Amino acid sequence: MTDLSGQTALVTGASRGIGAAIATALSRAGAEVIGLGTRIEDAPPPGITPLNCDLSDRDRIAALIADLKDRRIDILVNNAGIIRRAPVAEHSTEDWDAVMAVNLDAPFLLSRAFGAEMVARGSGKIINVASVLSFQGGRFVPGYAASKAAIANLTRSFANEWAAHGVNVNAIAPGYVATDNTAALQADPEREAQLMARVPLGRWLRPEEIAAPVVFLASDAASAIHGTVLAVDGGWGGF
Ligand code: NAP
Repeated sequence: MTDLSGQTALVTGASRGIGAAIATALSRAGAEVIGLGTRIEDAPPPGITPLNCDLSDRDRIAALIADLKDRRIDILVNNAGIIRRAPVAEHSTEDWDAVMAVNLDAPFLLSRAFGAEMVARGSGKIINVASVLSFQGGRFVPGYAASKAAIANLTRSFANEWAAHGVNVNAIAPGYVATDNTAALQADPEREAQLMARVPLGRWLRPEEIAAPVVFLASDAASAIHGTVLAVDGGWGGF
């Protein structure tokens, strides 16, 4: 049931980290994968069709949607995300806007456009990448935490309208994964020890461990799953 042959997936932020693992896993499951990033054309993951696009720029998003208008996108994975760390009182407006643009505005704009075509066809899958900080405030990342809480509810609101039209809209909420996004935490032994003490699994997650559940949500095996924010967090949420 997880054979994705004949389907086309669009994965944002596919150049590295979790997105590269998702793109690779969808490709191995048989999908044709278009991967987006700001510089993915320089070094694309194997087997992926790379497309440079800066998702912080709404005009570029509109151009991307127009460029892909003749492609049938069966699976959309809104994975691209950025994080800006600063105490709340020092979190700049520029950082707030930058985080919201990539983490929230882009998924909304892409889901609205490609999802409308899925609704017209009566089938499709949208998977948003949320976070454990969809459920908690975290520390020093107010914009990021707000964007990830919002994407969880965006997922539910799209699902509530589109489930009846054969379109599955779900999200995955990773715990702490060893990628560039968490490089600052991995480089801070004290903070790393605090975090890992709170993960029942007791270690950083690997990007591939996030990718496998995304393949499941992109497949017919998940046909009855709508509006779920699936935690893949090594047990963090229940601790
Ligand atoms: P990462 O290693 O920093 O990779 C970020 C990806 O997003 C890159 O492929 C990058 O592509 C792309 N990207 C960033 N800004 C972009 C823009 N303006 N336009 C287009 N693409 C852009 O991050 P990651 O850890 O894999 O995170 C992936 C997702 O998982 C994010 O939504 C993140 O919030 C979420 N997440 C991560 C963790 C974790 O522990 N790592 C935990 C929970 C949730 P280019 O390099 O080509 O620009």
